Amino acid sequence: MKENIVIIGGGIAGLEVAVQLLDLGYKPIVIEKRDRLGGHVADWNLLFPDMIPARDVVGNLIARASEANIFLNTEISFVNKLKDSYNIMLSNGISINTRIIVMTTGFALFDAAKKEEYGYGVYDQVMTNKDLEHWFNTGDDKRVNDSAMNAVGFVHCVGSRDEKARNPQCSKVCCITAIKQAIELKQRFPEAMVYCFYMDLRMFGKKYEDFYINAQRDYGIRFIRGRVSEVSENIDGRVIVKAEDTLSGKPVKVTLDLLVLMAGIICNTDSTRLANMVSLPIDSDGFLKSRDNVAEIIESPRDGIFYAGACTGPKTVPETLAEARAAALKVHLFIKGLK
Ligand SMILES: Cc1cc2nc3c(=O)[nH]c(=O)nc-3n(C[C@H](O)[C@H](O)[C@H](O)COP(=O)(O)OP(=O)(O)OC[C@H]3O[C@@H](n4cnc5c(N)ncnc54)[C@H](O)[C@@H]3O)c2cc1C
Ligand code: SF4
Repeated sequence: MKENIVIIGGGIAGLEVAVQLLDLGYKPIVIEKRDRLGGHVADWNLLFPDMIPARDVVGNLIARASEANIFLNTEISFVNKLKDSYNIMLSNGISINTRIIVMTTGFALFDAAKKEEYGYGVYDQVMTNKDLEHWFNTGDDKRVNDSAMNAVGFVHCVGSRDEKARNPQCSKVCCITAIKQAIELKQRFPEAMVYCFYMDLRMFGKKYEDFYINAQRDYGIRFIRGRVSEVSENIDGRVIVKAEDTLSGKPVKVTLDLLVLMAGIICNTDSTRLANMVSLPIDSDGFLKSRDNVAEIIESPRDGIFYAGACTGPKTVPETLAEARAAALKVHLFIKGLK
């Protein structure tokens, strides 16, 4: 069907919107700024809670979306609002006129180096959740020494639930991601001691509580409730972590071969830039603002502009895919004049 539909962002949200619209007989246009599709999920290894390979999920979406018009390495230079449509100028010089835009620009990770007290970029043996996924996928990171992985720690809430970091929100997926990564490390290094330092554990999803219980019972992962108070480095390059165990009321001190920081999910500044071009509002948490956060989360306040995935806030993969399917249906109804 002849109707330009522009999807901005080729992560799993954008790809799923494209797949659904193709099934409905449209030929959507996907604009992706990077040189490859799949967004963040293409950087992950296994997906919680079923531990299925991320590359299978992404590969399947890419194959099914291949009939869409896909522009890689392409950004939006500017958007002009016309009477009933938008004129979008791409960085490759192509101009598109459309009535419909689906924003699927996703999230950014908090820069862990801003929490100087945890030593990211300063101490050799400190990495982020993203770095660890990279190592799981490639085996390429000298911070992980296969012959000396006796003790590993995870710090939750890095740059989330933190007024000083200007992000009081919970990033929602990092508690369960820490457990996923801790289990994966135990599978590779069964003898290693693995600790999770947390404030609260947010196990909100289907099977998440089981996953947490398995982590303790089957893998012996230790959960310590309390903020990390100090991170330092000893003479042989290992990391010393001090915390207060607020359940036992006792101070804890562990020496680790690796410290993993669970960097939080924050808004993508590209989304904000685009939002400004089309006068879309930004919510108080920095993400794109929906009509409401109950029944209309995938709808922007502007007719013809829809949202899906992590551009409106932290989301899991199944939540993102469900929103993308709903957004495709909204686009279809909009074109049919039914909405
Ligand atoms: C460490 C970590 C591990 C995780 N593991 C899991 C897991 O195991 N299971 C699970 O359910 N969830 C997991 N998640 C959550 C998962 O990553 C998200 O649900 C998912 O990435 C959301 O997809 P998205 O398409 O909305 O956003 P993104 O993945 O951020 O994709 C957005 C895409 O838009 C592109 N883009 C952005 N701005 C522009 C622009 N202006 N122009 C063009 N393109 C643009 C980006 O390059 C990117 O390709 C994890 C998250 C983290 C941080
Ligand atoms: S999901 Fe867990 S680690 Fe992430 S911000 Fe919320 S409480 Fe902290």
